[in-house]
Amino acid sequence: MNAVTYRGSGEAVPVGKILCLGRNYIEHAREMNSPKPARPIVFLKPSTALLQDGGRVCAPTFSRELHHEVEMVVVIGKDGRNISASRAMDFVGGYAVGLDMTLRDVQSEAKEHGLPWSVAKGFDTSAPVSYAMEQDKVTDPHNLTLSLKVNGKVRQHSNTKHMIFRIEDVISYVSSIFTLEVGDLIFTGTPEGVGPVVSGDQLEAELECVGTLRIGIA
Ligand code: MG
Repeated sequence: MNAVTYRGSGEAVPVGKILCLGRNYIEHAREMNSPKPARPIVFLKPSTALLQDGGRVCAPTFSRELHHEVEMVVVIGKDGRNISASRAMDFVGGYAVGLDMTLRDVQSEAKEHGLPWSVAKGFDTSAPVSYAMEQDKVTDPHNLTLSLKVNGKVRQHSNTKHMIFRIEDVISYVSSIFTLEVGDLIFTGTPEGVGPVVSGDQLEAELECVGTLRIGIA
């Protein structure tokens, strides 16, 4: 089952939409030579992209450049649409740490030709996600250390306080376009330090107060 499991209750919730933000940290926008966005950049992964803790990412063979992007993931806990920013946090069920695995060569080509990112971002196993921590256990989701180690070496290290668009604004914006349902996930964007991984690499992503995610590259 494509589900996310809550750490405390052990409840497994089937995952629906996986909404993802592009360029939500200014330093990452800079390293991609892209401008700061005026409104959230949203793309989707299918629920079949989900990979559980302990799994292995298996990229399509036509890509030669698989990149890691560590991100805080918001788990939606209540259905809603047209949610105001002031009510948005009531719709959060919990938080997890995830990896937005990206075929960078395929994405670069798509950007160049004005084509969609679905292949570069949505292939099977492109969305590893940890156990979820219930929202009431996370005091301030906008001040959590977010990091990624590859084979024991730190590749990404930042804090969710550096996000350009805050969770409440993201929920308000995306819910004006897509009805949010229990079990939908929102990947909130990656900080700087993205880079390549190869077969045999071991990745360990960590989000303070929330958890750790360990996966391998097939
Ligand atoms: Mg990303």
